Amino acid sequence: RFITFEGIDGAGKSTHIGYVTSLLKGAGKRVVSTREPGGTPLGEKLRDLVLHEKMHLETEALIMFASRREHVAQVVEPAIARGDWVLSDRFTDASFAYQGGGRGLDRAKLEALEQWVHPHLQPDLTLLFDVPLDVAKARLSASRTLDKFEMEQADFFARVRGEYLRRAAASNGRIVVIDSTKTIAEVRAALQAALETWL
Ligand code: C5P
Repeated sequence: RFITFEGIDGAGKSTHIGYVTSLLKGAGKRVVSTREPGGTPLGEKLRDLVLHEKMHLETEALIMFASRREHVAQVVEPAIARGDWVLSDRFTDASFAYQGGGRGLDRAKLEALEQWVHPHLQPDLTLLFDVPLDVAKARLSASRTLDKFEMEQADFFARVRGEYLRRAAASNGRIVVIDSTKTIAEVRAALQAALETWL
């Protein structure tokens, strides 16, 4: 099985990945935790490039999908084939949200890349951690240094969030929106409910 975690920066997704891992391990599943961009040695180099160099929007999208191609081939597909559960901190929904919704790259181009890179693979479940922008911003400034992406304008994150929510509404239940303004205990209860049928 393949579960992905999404949300704007500061939505609290990293806080909750560990909890989902412990739920699944507690249910006796073998879990592989990974992330994008990154997830392989080459992918981590590409992550470093894409997060720290200034580049054309399409170059950014192509590097994201190059990293993903490697990640799918080296990590995700072999793990699924072994019967392991793969938990990925971001996947293709992030490209639609950030490069598409946020930066305005044509959705058809992203769909073409998706077809190229993983025509037969989709997450079984995507947990979308959702918070209003002011909450995300307050969490980021309280917790860590703002990097290139986190210094973006508020309207950039509004577009990213809007695209995530639009995809969730159109996803036939694959993308479950988790209200991440709630307390940690309440979010955990929502995660447990979302995973119930899988445990
Ligand atoms: O989730 P994580 O904090 O590891 O993401 C690293 C950065 O990469 C974030 O600032 C996120 O905004 C950015 N990103 C992006 N496009 C993607 C995936 C991540 O701009 N497709």
